[in-house]
Amino acid sequence: MRGGIAELKVRLKQAKAGELLYPHTAMKVGGPAELFIEADTSQKLVEAVIAAREIGVPYFVMAGGSNLVISDAGLSGLVIRYTACNLVADDLTLGCEGGLSLWSLVQEAGNRGWAGLESLAGIPGSVGGAVFGNAGAFGYSISDILESGIVLTPANTIETVGNDYFKFRYRHSYLKESGDILLSVKLKFKPGDKEALWQKMKEILTLRAEKHPPHDWPCAGSFFKNIEKAGEPYGKLAAGILLDKVGAKNLRIGQAGVYFKHANIIVNYGGARFADIRRLANLMRQKVFDEFGITLEEEIRYVDGSGRKQA
Ligand SMILES: Cc1cc2nc3c(=O)[nH]c(=O)nc-3n(C[C@H](O)[C@H](O)[C@H](O)COP(=O)(O)OP(=O)(O)OC[C@H]3O[C@@H](n4cnc5c(N)ncnc54)[C@H](O)[C@@H]3O)c2cc1C
Repeated sequence: MRGGIAELKVRLKQAKAGELLYPHTAMKVGGPAELFIEADTSQKLVEAVIAAREIGVPYFVMAGGSNLVISDAGLSGLVIRYTACNLVADDLTLGCEGGLSLWSLVQEAGNRGWAGLESLAGIPGSVGGAVFGNAGAFGYSISDILESGIVLTPANTIETVGNDYFKFRYRHSYLKESGDILLSVKLKFKPGDKEALWQKMKEILTLRAEKHPPHDWPCAGSFFKNIEKAGEPYGKLAAGILLDKVGAKNLRIGQAGVYFKHANIIVNYGGARFADIRRLANLMRQKVFDEFGITLEEEIRYVDGSGRKQA
């Protein structure tokens, strides 16, 4: 064990060496973490990040693993899986820790008859991951109702920040640039009708079930971002439409293949390699570029050691 890692292991007693990461991801790809810790309180998350920063060990914070394609070689340094999920409700406001599943939050709001998150029904992953990538669907995103967040800054201070701080845009937040770690959020809802909200959520879940692979087929949802374009539904030209036009549904490399019903979803058909997925994605992008002159950008995040911005 390297010096820094050994020192970190002494400081973080619950950290484990060699935890395989693929079971913690939706794509079911990813080798061992040199050191892995589950942070089931925000205090543990803060302690782990600060310890890694002080000792100079690279670290990566993940949660639901639904938007990640992790290297088969695994990750050096510390991987922290954030699972803290406390939730409090007050006056049309829900406050929760970032490790709470987004679906739990959506259901909580629906059960209270509070409107604002119902379009996000069925999006997997955590609230923290949703804020990081400004998750959304059907023209709505989490940024629409986020009032404030508590972040651990790169300077190791804990600060409460407002919506503006996150510089939200389509599938983007400032967290992608800054290295801030999101501990918790407050979301402000509008009064709604419980029955109507659940009706809408059920319709959305049905639509999603028709579009997406069955739950036990490993995938990371839409692989590429849509293209922002005025005049298109929700202001976006669907990457899936372009991919379909270039015949992407027939593409497969190794055990990684494009889903036959949705050209913007890559499925791991069993034992797909990180390199296969990346090559397949590059081929899909190239075909769209050759035909339309448009360069698709990944919505998912590759994590292979070299691309770890939080370190
Ligand atoms: C079947 C399927 C359907 C999907 N449909 C949609 C959809 O309709 N719309 C949509 O927007 N997305 C969709 N996604 C993508 C995914 O669900 C979202 O991106 C989700 O919000 C990611 O959350 P996570 O907890 O899984 O994050 P992870 O995959 O664990 O991490 C993603 C990124 O977030 C960062 N992160 C996580 N938690 C924190 C934190 N507390 N502080 C700082 N950074 C953090 C990680 O470092 C990482 O870079 C889909 C995925 C799947 C598998």
